[in-house]
Amino acid sequence: MILRGFRYKLAPTAEQEVLFRQFSGVCRLIYNLALEQRRDFWRQFQRQTGRPLNYVAQARELTLLRAEFDWIEAVSQTCQQQALRDLDKAFANFFKGGARYPTPRRKNVNDSFRFQGREVEVKKLNGKWSAVRLPKIGWVKFRDTRSIRGTVKNVTVALDALGWHISFACEIEHVAPINICPAVGIDRGVARTLTLSTGERLSVPRSLEAIERRQRAAQRIAARRKRGSVRRAKALRRVAKLSARRARIRRDWQHKATLNLARRFGTVVLEDLRIRNMTASATGTLEELGRMVRQKAGLNRSILNQGWFGFETILAYKLEERGGCLCKVDPAYTSQTCSECGAVDRQSRKSQAVFLCQHCGFRANADHNAAINILRRNTASRDETSFRAMRMEEGHWLSGEVRTGSRFAPAENPPASARGRC
Ligand SMILES: [Zn+2]
Repeated sequence: MILRGFRYKLAPTAEQEVLFRQFSGVCRLIYNLALEQRRDFWRQFQRQTGRPLNYVAQARELTLLRAEFDWIEAVSQTCQQQALRDLDKAFANFFKGGARYPTPRRKNVNDSFRFQGREVEVKKLNGKWSAVRLPKIGWVKFRDTRSIRGTVKNVTVALDALGWHISFACEIEHVAPINICPAVGIDRGVARTLTLSTGERLSVPRSLEAIERRQRAAQRIAARRKRGSVRRAKALRRVAKLSARRARIRRDWQHKATLNLARRFGTVVLEDLRIRNMTASATGTLEELGRMVRQKAGLNRSILNQGWFGFETILAYKLEERGGCLCKVDPAYTSQTCSECGAVDRQSRKSQAVFLCQHCGFRANADHNAAINILRRNTASRDETSFRAMRMEEGHWLSGEVRTGSRFAPAENPPASARGRC
């Protein structure tokens, strides 16, 4: 069983858009009220009722609130309950120690609401358009760019800078096939996004940088305009639009690159980069002022631009679907080690691009050399070759093609005609 999301651009009518805003506004209010109650009144609540202030207690209070105010009752109750569930989860994560204390939701940032899967219905209108029936809203058209698979568990309607979108979270029956495609090591860099141990290179599209430049220019314009003015709001909308477009281009590239990798390789080895550490602010503390603040800020930007975290997440699930796996190894000295003789020498790394071994004279592209080292680190620890030989003896041998289970028909990459232009 795997979980997948399917996201589409909605085309609501003017009246539906008003309803969308009303729904997200009321859900946000419920969330914020519930957060306030948990923050300030949990002790009092416990003393008065003898029960903890949890989801069940707050859902009961919600029912009372709905009876009192018509405009709260006008919005679907499940959406409001889902908001309370989100809060419950946010608190659970906080108490587990993985997240910060929940913060209030904000207008123009958190504009979304969620239904349960069994409440909605989808019908096809024609080749390009479909419609979804949302409780208390009605049929809303959306641009159908690919078919939904599996059973819909829940449905989220959300607003971003590019308009209203809907995403269906689905559970898909799936048994991962046995995958014996070769292993590959990947070095991730700033100059070249990915270098494979086979010597191939994959880079994010150039247009990303151009858009970033335009976004920075738009940001400067927005900063000059008067706070609270209409013109400033307009400038900020432009910034948000560019940022959303950049995110979309990056995500598109991530999906294409990871699909390419997952189809060809069974095991993908990456360096275990602590991205959060790498991009930590360079300003330092008061006692120890950071060095090279400007340079570090530039590096941070390019690291985040490459979107490595998203890349890893997508690659992991695409591999899992095909029975492959994603491994991570310690990255220490991978760029200073010679992949021919194994000598570790700082001097061997001549420049950003060139690796020249000081001991055996091996010369290669520095990223390629590192990628081979990364692959080797994993195979050394897991003894991949004997593992594969064992699999072959068991009769699992397949040709280079990745096999997918019969119950699972990948709908990715539909023909260009069916893909549309969303
Ligand atoms: Zn060497």
